[in-house]
Amino acid sequence: MVDRSGELSPAILLVDMDSFFASVEILDDPSLRGKPVVVGGDGQRGVVASASYEARRYGIHSAMPMAIALRRCPDAICVPGNMARYAEVSRQVHEIFADVTPIIEPLALDEAFLDVTGAVKLLGTPLEIAHSIRYRINQELHLDCGIGAASSKQVAKLASRSAKPKIVGDRVVPGPGVYVVLDEDVLRYLHPMPVRALFGVGPTTANKLSRLGIETVADLAGLDPSMLERHVGSAVAHLIVDLANGRDDRPVEAGVKNRSIGHEETFSQDSFDRTQLDHRLRRQAQAVSSALRESGQEAHTVTVKIKLSNFEQHTRSLTLEEGLDDHQAIYEVASVLLGDHDISAGVRLMGISASSLRPRGGPKQLHLGLDAGSTADPLVTQEARFELREALDDIRKRFGKQAVGTANLLGEDGLTSPGQRDVAFGAKELPQILGNDEEI
Ligand SMILES: [Mg+2]
Repeated sequence: MVDRSGELSPAILLVDMDSFFASVEILDDPSLRGKPVVVGGDGQRGVVASASYEARRYGIHSAMPMAIALRRCPDAICVPGNMARYAEVSRQVHEIFADVTPIIEPLALDEAFLDVTGAVKLLGTPLEIAHSIRYRINQELHLDCGIGAASSKQVAKLASRSAKPKIVGDRVVPGPGVYVVLDEDVLRYLHPMPVRALFGVGPTTANKLSRLGIETVADLAGLDPSMLERHVGSAVAHLIVDLANGRDDRPVEAGVKNRSIGHEETFSQDSFDRTQLDHRLRRQAQAVSSALRESGQEAHTVTVKIKLSNFEQHTRSLTLEEGLDDHQAIYEVASVLLGDHDISAGVRLMGISASSLRPRGGPKQLHLGLDAGSTADPLVTQEARFELREALDDIRKRFGKQAVGTANLLGEDGLTSPGQRDVAFGAKELPQILGNDEEI
């Protein structure tokens, strides 16, 4: 086939490492090769952070409760994960990117957009550049990746999925590794896809569209956005009809810092009480969730920090392939992270922070349901909760923060906490996230 990828303008690559955390584990322990490996906590409330392709054959995917993963594949090998190590490998991957272009926008530890428009003269066509990046990652780091190439972020992202290995039945079928979509092919490529493939179409929007008889991107592309406004809101209507028609001019933004949004409290009296800590964790998750939504972002990493009365500090993080902005999901992850941490020394400070922030709106559905004892409907999607939370935010804005809360927050002291004397809140750098992670 003739390589016409040089026609892409801009030329955007999306490089996505194949089951990154699990692959790094296999790299570091070759006895795991060819086996179903899942990274994440193996406790009753653990979550899958990453799964090898052998594990995915059993229907295991990231953000799935570990209990379900192990039911699907009882022989799966569960490794706790090592964020510092993944971050180290991620830096090595980025060094390879940096040899190609300075315009790198990381999406997560294992995923980044690269604008290679300016590299074409020196390094070859985008297709050649993509192959050389893949080759170097494979030769130097012994890892695999899939690379999508297109002239827009939306299409490059989808193309990276087309580049990847696929699970067909219970077999792993290798992908092409690099997948290029030329401008003239964009509509042919996009139109047969389900509407869920588009940025900005989550499960709730997809359901609404489905009720209107709109199932595919092609169905959506022919519509006047004003017809949809009533159903999905004006902003989403215009966004998704544009995307369905291949219109997406969002640039690759280099130098986006890995900022974090956090909420922490120093208690006036050291806490020895798990119920009280859990209660506060919920409230912190709500605060972080509100701030995330206000900033239009979702977080791929949740970190819990505690400082004991002896000033010993512990942080634990979990990074997920799916982004979260949902207070319940953030709470559930934070609660897993806090876990059965020894608090016998007394906790003087506790906080949650959210980092690896990305603009909200990828196509995704969460299946967290971490709380094994909970009667919550596992089918309640992040998006359904999102709508509820928006309504709650609205009420809080009008009537004050104490107007509403989930039942779990209504302790004896209502929603306020007289014991709290110091609340740090807002966006700040989070250098510790790569430094002293204990475990995930
Ligand atoms: Mg990946």
